[in-house]
Amino acid sequence: MCGRVSDSIGASGFLTALYRKYRPQGFDDVVGQEPVVRTLRNAVSAGNVRQAYLFAGPRGTGKTSLARILAKALNCAHGPTPDPDGTCHACVAIAAGTSLDVVEMDAASQRGIDDIREIRERVVLQPVEGRYKVYILDEAHQLTDAAFNALLKLIEEPPPHLVFVFCTTELQKMLSTVRSRCQTFVLSRPRLPEIVRYLKTVAEGEGIEAAEAALALIARSARGSFRDAVSTLDQLSAATEGKVTVQAVLQLLGAVEEEALFRICDFVVDRDTAGALTFLEELAEQGQDLGRLVTDLLEHLRHVLLVQHMGEVPDSLPLTDETRERLRAQANQLGESTVLRLCDLLAVAVDDMRQGGDPRLPLELALVKVTRPAADMERESIAYRLEQLESRAQPGHVHGPGTETGPVETAPPETAPKEPPSVELSQLQEAWQRTILPAVEQKSIPTASMLREAHPSQLDEDRLTVEFPAAASFHRQLAEEPKNATLLAEALYEVTGRKLALDFAVGENRGDGPEEAEQPAGEEEIVQLMKDTFDAREVGGDTD
Ligand SMILES: [Zn+2]
Repeated sequence: MCGRVSDSIGASGFLTALYRKYRPQGFDDVVGQEPVVRTLRNAVSAGNVRQAYLFAGPRGTGKTSLARILAKALNCAHGPTPDPDGTCHACVAIAAGTSLDVVEMDAASQRGIDDIREIRERVVLQPVEGRYKVYILDEAHQLTDAAFNALLKLIEEPPPHLVFVFCTTELQKMLSTVRSRCQTFVLSRPRLPEIVRYLKTVAEGEGIEAAEAALALIARSARGSFRDAVSTLDQLSAATEGKVTVQAVLQLLGAVEEEALFRICDFVVDRDTAGALTFLEELAEQGQDLGRLVTDLLEHLRHVLLVQHMGEVPDSLPLTDETRERLRAQANQLGESTVLRLCDLLAVAVDDMRQGGDPRLPLELALVKVTRPAADMERESIAYRLEQLESRAQPGHVHGPGTETGPVETAPPETAPKEPPSVELSQLQEAWQRTILPAVEQKSIPTASMLREAHPSQLDEDRLTVEFPAAASFHRQLAEEPKNATLLAEALYEVTGRKLALDFAVGENRGDGPEEAEQPAGEEEIVQLMKDTFDAREVGGDTD
């Protein structure tokens, strides 16, 4: 009945012991939950303790620890008091998990009606030693409906000496009938400095030597869970004989040092392709897990985007003060379109990894493309589309209803659309096979394969000539069909951000006299005829 499962998840008995040893013992030890603690303290002081509480929050944030502190406050020999002494028989027993009046259940393993029946049979009994019988139900959302219904009867009219504390990581899965009878507290994820401070306490108490930077890394990987943080510290301490270095943390976690993430982005700011690739090589040689690098880099870019949009580093980000300053600076240096582009490119690497691929090549490609914009024309396209969206978001002048008798009209936006990005023929030629045809292929495979023999041959302002070899004049004819030509124009627009009018031409057979002579008579005339008929067809036009 008192068995605890969640404490020992993924940890040896010793790890569990360490977490238990350093869990907060009084309200003042609870880190980062000030509003909840204040309310509970006041309730105990005023003799206003409710009979059913619901503590919700991410795993490892200290829900059951808080429940135990509440139990101590109620049952302390010198209580009820918001400051239980921690030394009386009741406090000691509760801390050790041996109190007969505090029953901890894990709903993940004891979720059925029988367990609840047992509670119902036993609640009629008076507390053995203390004033209250406190039931702590961890992972309460996992109780069966039948068990919940049995519980409901209990918490509707509880015996006066009974207190329920439900703990859950998934508040929305709790029955509303149960929630409505509980006072609910949502525990927030602790911030990075709070976890670091907690780890420091543990390290000092256990005689573990650990650099602050190492503790910060551990804290970051714990993602808001005190339990995970202390478990990692303990593993590391055992592996390093009590001397936890940054290097050791990186090795164990495969985590990427923040420094590396900032440096990679600095290379992007400087458009230093060689520097970025060399640095990547170094990381790989040091045994850095490149898959982890990709995900950590994405997380870093997400932080950069947040800062760019909010104009400030959000408090919720798990960062040290020094890192916050640096992040703010980097967010100013990196263009938003560059960040978005890099995210897109890294997403490709993530996809590859999901299918078991090596992230190295897509990662390198991403860095090349983002440091050499000329080699990556899609980037221009995204920047362009963003600008378009922005100009469209400008409020137009709308006549208010009632002030006009005619139909309500929307005036065009005041700002003129921004100049589309410039593009050169050589860029189009370079991008033809690599980017443009794949974009066509996404719309139509036959159209793309028909265009494969062609290439961009001339660009005058917004008019692009696409040339087919003489032997493929039939393909040229097909390409001119509105359906196909439109697909190509759309693909070009996606890649370059420009609306290009298209001409289709057939190339001359350069310097291959004999072959030309061998051509069946009349073909040239047919070609010329088709050229006259179909040439100079404008696609896309000037309309939006
Ligand atoms: Zn006590």
